[in-house]
Amino acid sequence: KKLYKINQWGEGYFSVNSLGNLTVRTESKKSGEFDIASVIKEMKEQGVKFPAVIRFHDILRSRVRLINKVFRETIEEYDYEGRYYGVYPIKVNQMREVVEEIIDAGLKYDYGLEAGSKPELLAVLAMNDSKKALTILNGYKDDDYMKLALLGREVGRKIIIVIEKFSEIKKIIRLSKEVGVEPLIGLRGKMSVPGCGRWSGSSGERAKFGLSVSEMLQAVELFRANGLGDCIKLFHFHIGSQIPEIRSFKEAISEGGRIYAKLVQAGVPLEYFDIGGGLGVDYDGTRTINDSSTNYSLSEYVADVIYSLKQICDLEGVTHPNIVTESGRAVTAHHSCVVTNVIGKIDATSDFNTKKVTGEHIFVSNMRELEEDLHNNERLQETYNDVIQLKESALNAFKLGILSLEERAKIETIYTRVLNYITSKLIDSDKVPEELQSLVDDTSAKYLCNFSVFQSAADSWAIGQVLPVVPITRLHEKPTVNCSIADITCDSDGKIDKFIDETGHRTTFPVHELGEEDYYLGIFLTGAYQDVMGDMHNLFGRLNEVHVFKDEEDESGFYIEEVIKGQSCAKVLSTMQYNPQYMAYSLKKVVDREVARGKIQPRRGVKLVDFYEDCLRSYTYLES
Ligand code: PLP
Repeated sequence: KKLYKINQWGEGYFSVNSLGNLTVRTESKKSGEFDIASVIKEMKEQGVKFPAVIRFHDILRSRVRLINKVFRETIEEYDYEGRYYGVYPIKVNQMREVVEEIIDAGLKYDYGLEAGSKPELLAVLAMNDSKKALTILNGYKDDDYMKLALLGREVGRKIIIVIEKFSEIKKIIRLSKEVGVEPLIGLRGKMSVPGCGRWSGSSGERAKFGLSVSEMLQAVELFRANGLGDCIKLFHFHIGSQIPEIRSFKEAISEGGRIYAKLVQAGVPLEYFDIGGGLGVDYDGTRTINDSSTNYSLSEYVADVIYSLKQICDLEGVTHPNIVTESGRAVTAHHSCVVTNVIGKIDATSDFNTKKVTGEHIFVSNMRELEEDLHNNERLQETYNDVIQLKESALNAFKLGILSLEERAKIETIYTRVLNYITSKLIDSDKVPEELQSLVDDTSAKYLCNFSVFQSAADSWAIGQVLPVVPITRLHEKPTVNCSIADITCDSDGKIDKFIDETGHRTTFPVHELGEEDYYLGIFLTGAYQDVMGDMHNLFGRLNEVHVFKDEEDESGFYIEEVIKGQSCAKVLSTMQYNPQYMAYSLKKVVDREVARGKIQPRRGVKLVDFYEDCLRSYTYLES
């Protein structure tokens, strides 16, 4: 548990049982705990192939409950007069089942949804039927988007159209007159406070979205002049996602709070103060200011938001507004993980015979001597420098035609053995000297895992996001291998080489030697963005997935509610405009031609075509 920092990043949702297997605790306490290895066993019995996504729906529900409860309790504790109306931005994970679960868990808290595009609005309109919960509309909007929003008002939804840029004002005025429906309007402020973290561009004066203060004042004038002044109900800002420092929220609220208060004092009938998303996830469990962590907890965030806003409103003498947040990452990240089976180990070893022969080149003998010396000397750095230099000289000699192929092979083999020996010594020691860290990184093994980083952990590749990776079983055994992860795409970027360390991040992580049994690794905290941002690099499509719920009545502690099949080869090919039926037909024509020419037996021809068709129907990932 300690090695993988499960308690830190897991927020109490994950633990290890007496069998050494990773478990899920759906209520941050022992009750409702079940074994992920048992879930995998049942998936295999049901014929679900790996890699696969496992969704723990109870965790999702728990996150929704938690955020709403903490806001409610803190509001009461601080005598804050407004209410909390959270909304879930569906862009963070639009899976229907995920959104449905969030709506269901949030029903009693009037928890709403946020959409940022026309297709998302179509989904949101069809899903959240509450008349009390909010629906917030962000993003750039065309006429249809606005008209859909007004349709929502007609059927009684509390839909707030947030103005992101000035030209949207004329559009909403024109369309509301045309349709004869009064909108609810929000104004997104462009805060001067620069954002921080990876998405710092979401804030600051040069941000893509939002109105400057002068534009906001003009907007109020324009709405008033067109009889819609009373419709301006919400003030909004968003300073970026995964905000590492609590200070950034405080600063944004002190600026936003003043703008809000001054607008209210100027007679704008605002009721909601929407602080957007940004509530971060402690991916690496360090609770520090780095891009994969946060220096605050959910409770600290909520307390700071409520306290800061209350203070400003009291000073300005305005009523405490209802607070809206658009947290997505913090709601969905924990509930899903990608489980991949390790299909092999890539390491630099060679069995080439390096025995001494008479007349061999001096470089070979020198390399051999360095190896023989190795076991009696402590000067690893020196030996390392020597073997590097010798290998370089040997390569030059080979290029000049002085070394034979066999001699080069011998030098490479001994060289690899020496480096592996030095690395193993370094790994056993407590601290790797900085000069030799790159050697450890370069020579460490890779576990080849059945998945695509580009499909399942896009942020790991794109922005160096750390995601917790943990073996699902054997957690009571000391791991003996240090490795990084290579995926099955034909791309050297297809790898994970940033892992959680006790103190920070490292390029390898400890795993167990592969044995007879399948070895599964879980990539955790993938429920936000990763689940839906994956691309089709190498045509590896969406993964099989299972939806798991706790069942305390059942011996196993869980049940699999739904299995969603991942994409077949035919499906991913058709999304790229191929026609699988025609492809099979084309191949059959080629085979028939060869049969007619007597090159292939007719029986064999039929088998080849059948096999091609079977492959089209099969899962895109490797069969194990
Ligand atoms: N609201 C808006 C306007 C956003 O752009 C985003 C994402 O960046 C969010 C909410 C969700 O943010 P997070 O996932 O950090 O909570």
